[in-house]
Amino acid sequence: MTDDNRLYDQLKEISGNLWWSWQPDVGDIFRDLDVELWRETNHNPMALLKRLGPDEIAKRAGKAAIESRVIYAYHRLQEYMRCKQGWGNSHAGPLLVRPVGYFSAEFGLHESLPIYSGGLGVLAGDHLKSASDLGIPLVGVGLFYDQGYFRQHIDANGMQQETYGRAQLDTLPLQRAFDSEGNPLTVKVETSDGTLHASVLKVQVGRSLLILLDPSVEQNVPDDQRLTEHLHRLYGGGQRVRIRQELLLGIGGFRALKALGMEPGVLHLNEGHCAFATLEAARVAMEEQGLEFEDALRYVADSTVFTTHTPVEAGHDRFPPELVLEHLQPLKKQLGIEDKRLLSLGRVNPESADELFCMTVLALKTSRRSNGVSNIHGCVSRKMWNALWPSRAQHEVPIGHITNGVHTGTWLAPEMRRLYERHLGRDWISRIRRREVWGAIHSIDDGELWETHRHLKGTMVDFVRRRLTRQARRRGEAEQDILRRTNGLDPDSLIIGFARRFALYKRAWLLLDDEEFLEKLLCDPLRPVQVIYAGKAHPQDQQGKELIQRIFHLARDKRFEGRIHIVEDYDINVGRHLVQGVDVWLNNPRRPLEACGTSGEKVLLNGGLNCSTLDGWWAEAYDGNNGFAIGQGKIHTDPDIQDAREVKELQHTLLDEVVPMFYARDDQGLPSQWIGRMKHALVSLGWRYNADRMVVDYTQQAYLPAGGATTSSMPEEGDLDLQAVIRWVARNER
Ligand SMILES: *Cc1c(COP(=O)(O)O)cnc(C)c1O
Repeated sequence: MTDDNRLYDQLKEISGNLWWSWQPDVGDIFRDLDVELWRETNHNPMALLKRLGPDEIAKRAGKAAIESRVIYAYHRLQEYMRCKQGWGNSHAGPLLVRPVGYFSAEFGLHESLPIYSGGLGVLAGDHLKSASDLGIPLVGVGLFYDQGYFRQHIDANGMQQETYGRAQLDTLPLQRAFDSEGNPLTVKVETSDGTLHASVLKVQVGRSLLILLDPSVEQNVPDDQRLTEHLHRLYGGGQRVRIRQELLLGIGGFRALKALGMEPGVLHLNEGHCAFATLEAARVAMEEQGLEFEDALRYVADSTVFTTHTPVEAGHDRFPPELVLEHLQPLKKQLGIEDKRLLSLGRVNPESADELFCMTVLALKTSRRSNGVSNIHGCVSRKMWNALWPSRAQHEVPIGHITNGVHTGTWLAPEMRRLYERHLGRDWISRIRRREVWGAIHSIDDGELWETHRHLKGTMVDFVRRRLTRQARRRGEAEQDILRRTNGLDPDSLIIGFARRFALYKRAWLLLDDEEFLEKLLCDPLRPVQVIYAGKAHPQDQQGKELIQRIFHLARDKRFEGRIHIVEDYDINVGRHLVQGVDVWLNNPRRPLEACGTSGEKVLLNGGLNCSTLDGWWAEAYDGNNGFAIGQGKIHTDPDIQDAREVKELQHTLLDEVVPMFYARDDQGLPSQWIGRMKHALVSLGWRYNADRMVVDYTQQAYLPAGGATTSSMPEEGDLDLQAVIRWVARNER
């Protein structure tokens, strides 16, 4: 083998493990090989390697002194994979023998692997990555979506257009799984309406493994082959498609784990979509241990953890009983139970004959440990599901909360990371959960922090200009119009970011409600403000699409030109650029409908300030000085009244607090009060809203007890931050 080939092979191996995606210096190697191609492939290293080929790579590597960087990255990957250190390896005792099976309908790991649509998926991706960093044994189980989620274009009329590209399997970091005889592994799920088949794919996410089921196999009838064609079919493809997807995910997923020789000691259901897994686990427990159904179900529940994610009523899957029976008939026979008993598992009232079968109810009834994803969402969930425990008061409903966090390596800008390394210590990231680590933020010089932020803001502005230019050229707009608008974007202005799905409750219109106010806010010549929007509307959400159109037209309105921008095709890449560069992240969901919200946590880590209604994570995080609040967290029974009130409160917060503070400069030209808030946000919140803290919370509060850890094998309290968490919860449980 020549050296040239060795380099190519090492790059190939690196690109086959998503570990590279949270090592910015490794991503830079691919970028430096061919920046245009890198962007064109949406940062897909396998596609880049395939297009360039070994000879071209060797040529370019020689030129740009890339070789030593590849070798270094390659060795770091080997070291990472072999490393036996990490919190999990010293604490995750029983899980080392039987790992956690983490089931989720989507996983957002990187923009080049589009099997996610939004926050739920990104959270699952971050969970896997932190489990890998911490050394906690965890296997993800999900579905492979051939065409992923749609790509968004906005046409010359401002209408969202959806396009779909078929996945090129050989340029995705997927490996086929094989059975013990060396044949491609497939699993099947019997239904009364034909058997569902799926092949099994593996994705390496650092030390965590993710397995994906792919039903596009020839054993399936054509309809089933297309079952997971688009991701949004999960959320709008009709109930038959959906229940079949969920059957595949839960039952097929559990069978795939077993077929790969993995015996999960804990099942973690990330949202109700995958709850059928517990029924399959019960069947296996009956078969392997000779248990009766009810005992088997209790046995499974003891080791199952359920996380609910939505306070929106329509967000919970509900199926007609006939559809459930049709699909679960064969399993039901093996479980030896009557129709009525099966259906009762998905009904609040087991006696009711016409209640729909709810996946969240199934999950709650078949797991011993359940949680919401923020303090306020825990409260909302206890209220929402109180009827399942009719003899209990609301506060006694056994649903707790573990607040979501974000994966630092993925979301933190490298420049900011280096700044933290200088001031918090080189190993700060492995101690990120410790409160005391963050105190040293105060020792950072104001000018140095501001300069770093200003640099990142410049990078973000460059990115947005590039995107705006590309999309406008595609629409055939005149070059001078494009230039005028993109040049309007100014890194010296206060820049507000607003990027998320255009779901109704997120109220992207709130800032735009009153154009007179908008002029006052954006067009002050001494204190200009600019807003960057991004986000997709569900293909069937007409209102969401109209809102996008409205923003598109405002961005072309003479008054607001250059001050309002909308970037197409919001994904992890667009998200990463925005959260690393904005001054303010605006988030104004209608309380209490945001379960947690995680994009603001990404902004926090990068030194941006949050301006948000007191909902989701912000309701517990805001302390008066670590960002900005919209309103006082009140809820009105009439949503119109609540909306009207919060329009006013948003205007007040921006005009009277945010803008003046940003533009108040000291004698060195620095916004010292603003910088004080950035620092206070990091010190008060950095230790808590990261995915390491979240995954350790899950491990201590849920996985270890569910996995059968005895109290003596639980981690020592000194490691827990437990007292801090208890104090924190007590303070917020008002
Ligand atoms: C973080 C993230 C989300 C979730 O953001 P919310 O604030 O919870 O809506 C959605 N989509 C992408 C691409 C993200 O990176």
